[in-house]
Amino acid sequence: MTTLLSHSTTDANQFRAFDELRRRFPTWGAVREAPVEEVEDAVRVAGLANQKAPRVQRALEVAAADPRGADLEWLGEVPLEEAMEFLTAIPGVGPKTAACVLCFSFDRPVIPADTHVHRIALRTHVVPPGSSAIRAQERLTRFIEPERHFQTHMLLIRHGREVCDARSPACEGCPLLPLCPEGRARTR
Ligand code: SF4
Repeated sequence: MTTLLSHSTTDANQFRAFDELRRRFPTWGAVREAPVEEVEDAVRVAGLANQKAPRVQRALEVAAADPRGADLEWLGEVPLEEAMEFLTAIPGVGPKTAACVLCFSFDRPVIPADTHVHRIALRTHVVPPGSSAIRAQERLTRFIEPERHFQTHMLLIRHGREVCDARSPACEGCPLLPLCPEGRARTR
């Protein structure tokens, strides 16, 4: 649920909105059935409330309607492709969001490609120039051993924030420099 609230906001506000939903509504069923304006009000701190509230309610409806169980625990057991297919069919849930849910909540072997992971994959030519985040996600997931997916995702995000910045990457001190075509071009 927090992933649905995470677009274009900070981690802190995403979790504030989640906490507010839990505070105002006793169950997820109550969130699902509430007037959309009440849900909007609860998640307002995360921004884009008029988009996020109906998406939250729609996701809860889809989950409730699935005979495999509204708690979605089965997402941890079915084939990964089936789990991705289910999640990406929910409005507002793209492949990156689905990968986050499966990696973080169900410990499934997939590396979500957020903006940092995507940028590093492009600069290091893990994927060809111009490739989408989804392609980076698929290729990294295939290349890295499943038991290292979560750790790799977290390390790449940290690397993107602290070293491989979007505007001015610190290539001179970057440990990936010997392997990175973009870094070598920037330090010539
Ligand atoms: S060498 Fe530069 S462009 Fe390449 S990963 Fe490191 S910081 Fe990013």
